[in-house]
Amino acid sequence: MDLGFLTAQDRACADLPTELFVPESGLPGKAAKDACRRCPYTTDCLAYAYATGDNYAYMGGTTANERRTVRPPQHTPRRLQVAGRRRQVVDMADAGLTLKEIALVLKLPVATVTADKIRAGRKQAAARVNVALYAQIDALDAAGVSPTRIAEKLHIGRRTVYNRRAQRQTGLVAA
Ligand code: SF4
Repeated sequence: MDLGFLTAQDRACADLPTELFVPESGLPGKAAKDACRRCPYTTDCLAYAYATGDNYAYMGGTTANERRTVRPPQHTPRRLQVAGRRRQVVDMADAGLTLKEIALVLKLPVATVTADKIRAGRKQAAARVNVALYAQIDALDAAGVSPTRIAEKLHIGRRTVYNRRAQRQTGLVAA
């Protein structure tokens, strides 16, 4: 599961109050629904909600009640194929093959191989940024700085700070 969305600055809920997503009635308001509808991370967020067994929050466009009654969505074979192909491209590039050579071996257009390689590079760069950001959040948190102050200092949403705390507490991500 890709947890990068937890700290992504472009999550649609990044700057919205957490309470909107944890409504007492269990039913989300329009602002939360609109946010999840336009969010680019709905799939990852939904997978995370299922994986953590969240019982309260409106996540990935679903209420906790909906998740209890609907089975988690499966990755489609097509998604798995693409993910597997990208891993092959990265492994071969790491082994020193040129993009043209990889395209020949995998019988793919060079443009596809190039796009896969660029995408993988972006993901790695984003992961490096996340690791650095997590370290900063953890250090400030350990020093007793409040989540609001941490968010202001690092120019991130408060929800990011809370999410990182939740990751550490649930052991989903090593502290
Ligand atoms: S709750 Fe999940 S899907 Fe909804 S806006 Fe936030 S990150 Fe996106």
